[in-house]
Amino acid sequence: MSASFPILLTPGPLTTAPATREAMLRDWGSWDGEFNRITSSVCADLLSIVHGEDEYVCIPMQGSGTFSVEAALGTLVPRNGCVLVPNNGAYCARIVRILERMGIAYVTLPLEDDEPARADVIEAAFASAPGITHVAQVHLETSAGLLNPLDEIAAVCARHDKRLIVDAMSSFGAVPIDLRGSGIDALISASGKCLEGPPGMGFAIVRRTLLEQCAQRSPSLALDLHDQWVYMRKTGQWRFTPPTHVVAALRRAIDAFAAQGGQPARAARYAGNRATLIEGMNALGFLPFLPAAVQSDVIVTFHAPRDENWRFADFYAAVRAAGFILYPGKLTRVDTFRVGCIGAIDAGDMRRAVSAIAAAVEQLGIRVR
Ligand SMILES: *Cc1c(COP(=O)(O)O)cnc(C)c1O
Repeated sequence: MSASFPILLTPGPLTTAPATREAMLRDWGSWDGEFNRITSSVCADLLSIVHGEDEYVCIPMQGSGTFSVEAALGTLVPRNGCVLVPNNGAYCARIVRILERMGIAYVTLPLEDDEPARADVIEAAFASAPGITHVAQVHLETSAGLLNPLDEIAAVCARHDKRLIVDAMSSFGAVPIDLRGSGIDALISASGKCLEGPPGMGFAIVRRTLLEQCAQRSPSLALDLHDQWVYMRKTGQWRFTPPTHVVAALRRAIDAFAAQGGQPARAARYAGNRATLIEGMNALGFLPFLPAAVQSDVIVTFHAPRDENWRFADFYAAVRAAGFILYPGKLTRVDTFRVGCIGAIDAGDMRRAVSAIAAAVEQLGIRVR
């Protein structure tokens, strides 16, 4: 990694490989066949990462991940639908805000920040609110780093014939997901998370037979997934200006992903990053917020030290000066900060980050424990 700019220990944007950044050093015509072949090969590869080739289609969407979440909810949920949202963090809460804006009925299942959603509780919600038609489930709640049990939730949705829309933003590519026979109807992610591309493009992978029923349903023109899909099938092009450089860089990032061994290899590298980080931080006295059983390998939330010299802004600045960018906490009840384990980084980078954190603690006179 070049010493000239800091390593991002943030879960998107994140540190990309030099080859991925180099793919952005030329311009592309959005109507040009060469660019359109890149888009279609990217979509084909995204489908194959989650084994969706047979029954699903991949629709790319301009914008950050939230644009694609909003596009999926607006396109796939009918106006008279009702969405169950198990809520254990900020990204679940964002789904609720989107539904509210669109005037779609919803039921939330309030959970603690460290409490995974449970299939039996979701099943009980189906019984007490029979009007529920859809479930919007965040797979990996990035606000704490918590992994929800997607397979069990998908099975319960299939059993009760509820449509399941999954925000797999920070799990796609790292956590195994197999759409075949899964009960998942739609899966959403973006370029700048575990695929290690730059930010700027999201995508939804949707069951084809479901998407076919969704013409003219979206209240938004720009975020209409059905319209984007139909236009792209007809012309090979995006409806409106595509983020050309981001698509080209994502192509390169997916090539690297495949060359490195695909999802299993990515999961293994991130697990090594997480283990190295937690071990090093434990030695300094920092404690993870989540119990190990629900801690993902993508991002770790640490309790802030209870010390009068602790100020996140000073800590951040000291660690940044040593070449690493940390992430503030996103929990409402406890004071925390976060360290991302994803991006083109390895265990050596995590060890150097822990050393930078140790030096910052020393320099600022913080008593960690
Ligand atoms: C990153 C992320 C999103 C999208 O956030 P953007 O800021 O729009 O990229 C949505 N859900 C989860 C779980 C995420 O980690």
